[in-house]
Amino acid sequence: MTKYVYDFSEGNKDMKDLLGGKGANLAEMTNMGLPVPHGFTITTEACLTYLAEGGHPAGLMAEVDEHLAALESSMHKKLGDAGDPLLVSVRSGAKFSMPGMMDTVLNLGLNDDSVAGLAAQTGDDLRFARDAYRRFIQMFGKIVMDVPADAFEHALDEAKAAKGPDAQDTDLSADDLSALTERFLAIYREHTGSDFPTDPKEQLRLSIEAVFKSWNGKRARDYRRQNKISDDLGTAVNVVAMVFGNRGEDSGTGVAFTRDPSTGEHVPYGDYLANAQGEDVVAGIRNTLPLAKLEEIDAASYKGLREVMDTLENHYRDMCDIEFTIEKGRLWILQTRVGKRTAFGEWVMANDMLTEGLIDEDTALLRVDANRLEELFKRRVEADGAGAIATGLNASPGAATGAVVFSADEAERWAKDDGTKVILVRRETTPDDYHGMIASQGILTSAGGTNSHAAVVARGEGIPAVCGADAIKIDLEARAFSANGTTVREGDTITIDGFTGNVFVGELPLTDSVLEKARQGDATAQSQPIWQAYDRLMRVADERRRLRVRANADTPEQSTNARERGAEGIGLCRTEHMFLGPERVAAVQQMIFAESDDEEKAAFDVLLPLQKGDFVGIFQAMDGLPVTVRLLDPPLHEFLPDLTELSVEVALGRERGEDVTEQEKVLGKVRQLHEMNPMLGLRGVRLGILKPGLYAMQVRAIIEAACQVRKGGGDPKVEIMIPLVATRPELQQTRDELEPVAQEILQREGVAFSHLEWGTMVELPRAAVTAGEIAESADFFSFGTNDLTQTAFGFSRDDIGKFVAMYEERKLVPANPFVTIDLPGVGRLMKIASDEGRAANPSLHLGICGEHGGDPASVGFCHGLGLDYVSCSPFRVETARLAAGQAAVGGFSSATA
Ligand code: PEP
Ligand code: MG
Repeated sequence: MTKYVYDFSEGNKDMKDLLGGKGANLAEMTNMGLPVPHGFTITTEACLTYLAEGGHPAGLMAEVDEHLAALESSMHKKLGDAGDPLLVSVRSGAKFSMPGMMDTVLNLGLNDDSVAGLAAQTGDDLRFARDAYRRFIQMFGKIVMDVPADAFEHALDEAKAAKGPDAQDTDLSADDLSALTERFLAIYREHTGSDFPTDPKEQLRLSIEAVFKSWNGKRARDYRRQNKISDDLGTAVNVVAMVFGNRGEDSGTGVAFTRDPSTGEHVPYGDYLANAQGEDVVAGIRNTLPLAKLEEIDAASYKGLREVMDTLENHYRDMCDIEFTIEKGRLWILQTRVGKRTAFGEWVMANDMLTEGLIDEDTALLRVDANRLEELFKRRVEADGAGAIATGLNASPGAATGAVVFSADEAERWAKDDGTKVILVRRETTPDDYHGMIASQGILTSAGGTNSHAAVVARGEGIPAVCGADAIKIDLEARAFSANGTTVREGDTITIDGFTGNVFVGELPLTDSVLEKARQGDATAQSQPIWQAYDRLMRVADERRRLRVRANADTPEQSTNARERGAEGIGLCRTEHMFLGPERVAAVQQMIFAESDDEEKAAFDVLLPLQKGDFVGIFQAMDGLPVTVRLLDPPLHEFLPDLTELSVEVALGRERGEDVTEQEKVLGKVRQLHEMNPMLGLRGVRLGILKPGLYAMQVRAIIEAACQVRKGGGDPKVEIMIPLVATRPELQQTRDELEPVAQEILQREGVAFSHLEWGTMVELPRAAVTAGEIAESADFFSFGTNDLTQTAFGFSRDDIGKFVAMYEERKLVPANPFVTIDLPGVGRLMKIASDEGRAANPSLHLGICGEHGGDPASVGFCHGLGLDYVSCSPFRVETARLAAGQAAVGGFSSATA
C-alpha cells in the first residue's frame, strides 16, 4: 500500500518531490538534531490523488491517526485534551517555494474545552489562550470553510471600537476575547450553516483537505504560471506541533538569512518581531527589528540562532533562509530553505563561498543565473526612490527616460519620424500595441501584473518596464495622466526604473552599472566585489566550456564591441545592413533597375568598394578569428520605396500635371518585384541565383578585403555563407559560380588565407531533413533558427509578438519558440541535420546564429547537440559564455530532441 505520511525523522532534504521543500528540509533538520518541533508530512502524492479523486485517498486518515498518536506520545500531550492539549499547525509546502500562495492553519486543536487547558499550560494566561482560539476560528473559517474574511474583521473592529477610538488588538481583555469568540462562532454558523467543529480530528481532516485544494487556488495557479512551475506537482501538508512566539516579551518570531540576500555580503541578515506569531510579521501589524537587535533582547537565543545558521549553511553549502520562533526563551526552527537572492547577490555569494572553500568551482559556476546576467549590465537611476510620483511592479529591469505617449501608433510615429525617445504609457497593453512597444525606450502601465502582456513583451524585448502603477490615472482625452497630484502631459519627459518600479517626472541621470563601468576599465568599479566575482567565475566558465561563442555583428564597431565581450569570431555578418544609407540605396536601386549588363556592372562598381571597406574593418577587428559573412538575404523590394506610398505619389503627381516618368519607372519595378509573401519569396540563395552578378560582387568585396588585411600582416579567417538553401543543387551551383571568383582574386593577389570555407544556413525544414545531401556541398552549417522556427511552426516571426504572450499564458507553447528553441520540433530538426550532416561530411563545422544563440536554455541544448559554436548579439556574448560553461559542467539538460 502506498505510504502517504512520513514522520520528520523518516525523510531528508532530497525528498522534495514527495515531501515538498518545507517537509524535506524539516526532516533534514530533525535528523541533524536541530531544535525543530515534532511533526509529520503528508506527501504530494496524497494531494494529487485527492485532487484526482475528489476525496482523501484510502488509508490516508488511518495513517494520519497513527502518526498523530506518535506525535502525541513524543510531545506528552493529546490533541483536544481539556487539561493539557497538543496544538498543531497544518502547513502547505510544495516542491518549489510558493510564498504565501497556498494555505496554512495555525492553533488547530482548540475548542471550548481545550482553550482552558491551553491557558493552564501557559501559566493561566487566559488572554493568550482566548486570543489563540479566536485566531483559530477566524483562520479555519476563512481558509477551510470560505467564510468571508471581512465578516470576522468587521466583528474584530467592532470589539476594538467598543474599547475606545484608537484601541488595538492588544487592548482586548480576556473577557473581550471570550465575547469575540462567541461572535466568531456565530459568524461561522451563519455562513456555513453548521457549528464549528469541536472534534480536533475533524478539524485536522478538513484542514488537510483545504491545503490540498489550495494547490489549485487562483493565487497558486497564477504564481505557477509566472514562475513556470508545473501544475502537476501537488503540495505536501506538514502537521507540526505548535510553538508560540506570542507569549510575552521573552518570546518572538523572525526570519534569518545566513548572508545578505541583496548584496551577497557574508553577514547575518533578517528581521525579528518580539511577542508575535509568524503571521503577524507577514501582516505587518508592527514594524520588525533588524535581526542584530535580538542579541540585545535575548543574547542566549541569538547565540543559539547564529550557531544554527552556521550549521545550516555548512550543511547545505549555500545561503539559507530560516524561520524561527522563540517561546519563553527557547529557540525553535520552523523552516529552512536555500534562500532567494538578487542577481547581484548570487555572484558575490558564489565567489565568497568559493574563496571560503565551502563550494568548488563547478558549483560556484552553477550558482549564478545566466538568464539574469544581462540585468547586471543595465543602466540604473542614480537617485534613490525619493521624489517618485508613483511606484508599480518592477516588471522588466533597466532604467529609461523619454517623452510620454499614450498610444502605440504615436510611439512608433514619434520614434520613427525624428528619433524621439518615448515612454509608452497605457492602462495595459494588448497584442495590437506591439509595434509601439518595441519602438519605445520604456513601458509604463497603470494596471496588470508581472505576467501581463506588457511585462512579458518588455522582458522578451529587453525594454525596461514598470507595470501596475495604480496611482497613475490616465485621461486619454486630455492626453495626460495624473499621479498623486502631479499631472504629466503627452510629450513631457519621465523616467522609469524597472528595477524598483519607481516613476519620476523629468529626465533623471542614469548611471552605468558597476559591471559596465568595470568592463570599460574603471578601476574603482573593478575593485568592487561584484566585478571580482564576475571576473573570476567567467574565467571558470571559459575554462570549462566546449562551445565557442561568436557574435552576430555587421560593422567594425559591433565587431570590436563583441570582441571586447569575449566573442571568438563572427557567426553572422548580415551584409544587407551594409546596403543602407542614401549613397548605397541609390546604387542598389540602380542595380535593381539595370536593363543591361553594363548598367548592372556600373552599379556593382559603386557598391563593391563600399562593401570592401566595411569588410576590411570587420576582418581587422576580428583578426585571427573566423568571420562568417552571409551573402544578401532579404528580398530586393525592401530596398525600393513602399508600393502604396509610391502609387499615391504618382497618382497625385499625374493629377497635378507633373512629369512623373521617372517615378512611373520606379513604380513599375516595385510592382514587378512586389510579393504577396516576401518572407517565403525571392530571397536568400534564390536571389543570388536570379541575380548572379550580385553574389559575385559580394564575394569579390569579401576576398579583396581579406587580401588587403592579409597583405597588411593580418590573419583573416573567411567563411562565406549562402542563406535560405533548401536543396543541395542550390548550394552546389552557387558555389560553382562563386569559388572561381574567389580563386581568381587569390591568384591575382598571390595571397592564401589560413582559413576559407563555404557553407550554408540551415533555416528551412527541407534543408534540415536533407542535410546529409547538403553537407556534401558544404564546409559548415549554421542553424538559422529564426527562420527555422518561423517555417517549422508557420508562425510569422514579425507578428508573433501579438499573440505569443497569450500562447504562453494558455500553455499552448512552453515558452516563446523564438526565444527558446522548441525542442520537440525545431530542436529535432536540428538534431537530424547535425547527425546526418556530420555522417555525410565528418569535417563539417556546426554553429547556430539565430537569436537562440544567446538564450541560456538553448545554449545548453546546442552544447548537448555537439555544435562547435553559438553566435548571438554582441550584448549577449557574456550570457552565452556563461551558459556554455554551465552546460559543460552539467548545468543544463543536454537532452537531445
Ligand atoms: C535566422 O533565420 O535565424 C537568421 C539568423 O537569419 P535572419 O534572422 O537574418 O533571417
Ligand atoms: Mg534567416
